[in-house]
Amino acid sequence: MGTKRRDFLKLGLAGAALSLVKPSQASELIGVAFEDKVKGPIVISTWNHGIAANAEAWKVLVQGGSALDAVEKGVRVTESDLTNRSVGIGGMPDRDGHVTLDACIMDHESRCGAVGFLEGIAHPISVAREIMETTQHVMLVGAGAKKFALDRGFATIKTPIPEVKKEYEKWKKENKDVFKKPEINHENHDTIGMLAMDAKGNLAGSCTTSGWAFKMHGRLGDSPIIGAGLFVDNEVGAACASGLGEAIIRIAGSHTVVELMRHGYSPMEACKEAVNRIISKHKDLTNLQCCFLAMDKNGNVGSYSVFSGFNYALKTATDEKMVDASYTRNWD
Ligand code: ASP
Repeated sequence: MGTKRRDFLKLGLAGAALSLVKPSQASELIGVAFEDKVKGPIVISTWNHGIAANAEAWKVLVQGGSALDAVEKGVRVTESDLTNRSVGIGGMPDRDGHVTLDACIMDHESRCGAVGFLEGIAHPISVAREIMETTQHVMLVGAGAKKFALDRGFATIKTPIPEVKKEYEKWKKENKDVFKKPEINHENHDTIGMLAMDAKGNLAGSCTTSGWAFKMHGRLGDSPIIGAGLFVDNEVGAACASGLGEAIIRIAGSHTVVELMRHGYSPMEACKEAVNRIISKHKDLTNLQCCFLAMDKNGNVGSYSVFSGFNYALKTATDEKMVDASYTRNWD
């Protein structure tokens, strides 16, 4: 597909209804673009945990607060959720038993902050924002990031929490053979990426994760990398990603989605094109789940993933719902 906007169907309200169809039906609609069209404020975020996060972000947006405050406050809810195994305090560890957290944040002035391989700090997203707002840098990782967070008085946590430690010990026992090669599949990852537009029409985004469960010690995925896990350009739109970080990094996924929107693609078309690009660069699609979520400057929203199962939460003044993303392939 070229850079010229395709002559695609904008289905408006009918499109909103279509976005609620089950994935199996949605796959039959491939080639027909549909999208939710809403006016701001609006907040969207990845996966089921997005509902609770959106609700918190909405409290900020509805009072006329900034998109930046909304996306930070929103994902902190997920980071605090002890039952969540893919984000924050309750996250799964790497293969050596360490829970290492990654996050990034970006605002309407293209300011950005990121933190990676951070252990023992409750809210990586707020550390990322602190880096963005108070240092000359964009990204801190590992021991340096931890020292920075401690110096700035960020709350500490002890991870893995006991329930997670038990799960890790069990995994270690059951996976002696594959212990040297961590496997990713659609059950051992997820991330929260959140995009918001505030009452002034400004955009911001956040992304936070404990990453791929049982990853190699020291591994960073796409989530803390500006342009891969998240990208915001206030003139155009914003995008975030979830799924196999290594594949998303290879095409600078979220930046690609925003650039496609700049050239006239709708949010959904842009996400689909990024997914197709990932597919074209991989011979083996086994477990290659990559998911994109995007919002343009007018509050149009779209999503797309390689495999079925990706969904996102949407909240506006009149609507609160989960939407199943379209995709190219069924898991089975
Ligand atoms: N993208 C994350 C990572 O690669 C995981 C996920 O979103 O599922 O660490």
